[in-house]
This record gives sequence, C-alpha cells and structure tokens, in this order.
Amino acid sequence: MNTTDIIRPKTLNDFIGQQDIAMEVKIALHSARSRNDAFPHTIFSGAPGLGKTSLAEIIAAEMDVPFFPVLGASIRDEEGLRNILSQLPSDGYDMQTGNIVLPGKVKHAIIFIDEIHRMKKSLTELLHTALEDFKLSMKIRNPLTGKMQSGLYWMPKFTLIGATNYLGVLPRPFVDRFMIQSCFEPYTEDEIIQIAHHSAKKLNLDIVSEAIAEMASKSRGVPRILNRFLLRARDVAIYTGANRITQETVQEMFQIQNIDELGLTKLDRRVLEYLAAVIRPIGIGAISQAVDEDQNTIENLVEPWLVRLRLMVKTSQGRQITELGLQHLGQELQQSRFLKA
Ligand code: ADP
Repeated sequence: MNTTDIIRPKTLNDFIGQQDIAMEVKIALHSARSRNDAFPHTIFSGAPGLGKTSLAEIIAAEMDVPFFPVLGASIRDEEGLRNILSQLPSDGYDMQTGNIVLPGKVKHAIIFIDEIHRMKKSLTELLHTALEDFKLSMKIRNPLTGKMQSGLYWMPKFTLIGATNYLGVLPRPFVDRFMIQSCFEPYTEDEIIQIAHHSAKKLNLDIVSEAIAEMASKSRGVPRILNRFLLRARDVAIYTGANRITQETVQEMFQIQNIDELGLTKLDRRVLEYLAAVIRPIGIGAISQAVDEDQNTIENLVEPWLVRLRLMVKTSQGRQITELGLQHLGQELQQSRFLKA
C-alpha cells in the first residue's frame, strides 16, 4: 500500500467533518443495503483535495461492491463510455433478458467519474437512459444484414458517482438525474487538526501538537494540503536525524518550501505581486498568463486562500489586491531587504 492509501480514510467513522454530507450518505447507505438495492446516483462538488474520491471509495467499501474510477476527460466517445459500462459485473442476471435471476449474487457496482464536467455534453446525454432505466442506446452491426442498427440494450444496475468543482458547467438535465447532490466545503481548523492526528497515527509519526497546529493553520482547510505538509515534515525530521516532529521541524519545512508566515506559496505571491503591479481589476485569463499557471489552479487553489485572508477581492469587474495584500507584500519586501543587508 502506498502512503496516500495508508492515510486515506477507509470507513465512514474514519471520515472526519462534512457532517451533513456524511449523514446523508449514512442514511442512503443504510436504506440501500436494507433494500438490497444500488446506492443512489450521487454528485459531489467542491475544490480538489476535500475528500470527494475518499468518500466515494468509502461508499463502495461500505456497500461491498466493485469500484471503477475513471477521469471524465478520458471518456472520449461512445465506445469509451461503453467500455466503462461493460466492466459492470453481471453476476445474478439472465444475460438474454437482463432480468435478475439470483438476487443474492447481484453487486451494484460504483462507477466514479472524477472531473465529470470534462465529459462531452453528447456523452452525458447518452447516459440519461443508463442512469434511469439501466439501458443504453447503442448502434450495433446486425450480424444477419451487416447493417448498423440502433437499439436500447440493458446493463446491470449500478451507481454513478461524479465529482466536480464546476457543477454549473454540467447540463442541468444531467445533474437532475443524480439523487444526491452534495457540495464539499473547506474544513475548519479543528477538523484539519483531527485529520492530522489520524494521519500521523496511521504513519506512526511522533509529532507534537504545536507542530500539527502550525501546519493546520496553513492548510487552507484542505486535507490533501495538510497531508502533504505532514509528509514533508516527516522527511525533514528524517533528514535532520530528529526522532520527533517539532514546531522547529515544521518551520524548517515551510522555509524550504518557500511558504511564508501566512501560508502563501511562491505562486500565491506571484499572483499577488501581479495584482499589485496592475492595480486595476483584472480577469483570471490575464493573471493566468502573467504567472504562467493554468486557470484551474489559480481559481481553485490560489484565489480562495487569498480571498479568505482578505489579501485580494473578486468583483464583477475582476480581481484586485486589497490594502492588506499590499501591506503583506510590503512587509515581505522589507524583510527580504533586511535579510540582504
Ligand atoms: P478529492 O477527491 O476531493 O480531490 P481526496 O478524496 O482525494 O479529495 O482527498 C485527498 C486526501 O485528503 C485523501 O487522500 C485523504 O487522505 C484526505 N482526506 C480528505 N478528506 C478527508 C476526511 N474527511 N477525513 C480524513 N482524511 C481526508
């Protein structure tokens, strides 16, 4: 098992925070299991690293069904979609009619499409009948006539779980077919601290509470960022021969990673510096070009943190640096001048 797998929560009890979502999942799990039915189609939205994949995997584990993960962008055409659906186990079904003959054998597998907004609209439309009636409209060559013929073909009942940070981009009729629609929010600092304690325990790390608090305060409410800090702090401790991770270890790790006292990375500061240079409100496209980073990263990882720290604002005219943002850059500038002197 790799480190990411070791840290990943495996059960609903292990899954910290997102209480409303966890409760909705718990109820749906209980209902599906007691009716021996599939888990309802679900769409999870929210920024990267907040636990969408982890929760989808937990649902599959709790339902004791196969889990097939796939990236939305990798489903290029009808054939690609059919290939994914053809993995669904048909145990317990009569292959000719599609009727269930051995209910005890049926496994309602889960297909997990990450970044589902990257699927073509025509493919999401093709999925409508699959999601509702577990039938897929396909063109198949008739072996007698040799001609292509379209028809509706059955498939084993399954659950589709989609994950996206761009729910609004998905066609409404497609989204409406998902019975559970949940939006993941950044975690509170207390929740991130709890996650850090769990991860440290799973990794057998000796770490002081102050070190965890320091990392949590810079994790942006995102467990993936916290786990990354934890692993890098472990590396620094190993490198320096320390047998426990202390606040000094964490500070050294932040210094090596070029993360400042507010938790800003080099990229955050480049964005802020660009905003300081242009002063007027500016669009995301221009920022992306100026700092040479893709828009998704800036929108999902950089901006929410800068906005939360009130270093920049987003208005209908564009993004703009705040007085606090300018002050922070000023302090940094003074500090680096002082260090150089
Ligand atoms: P997403 O699919 O939203 O990008 P992931 O499910 O891959 O996010 O989560 C990233 C990592 O953060 C996981 O590997 C896991 O270790 C950790 N994580 C996410 N959510 C939680 C949580 N609620 N409790 C504990 N760990 C979590």
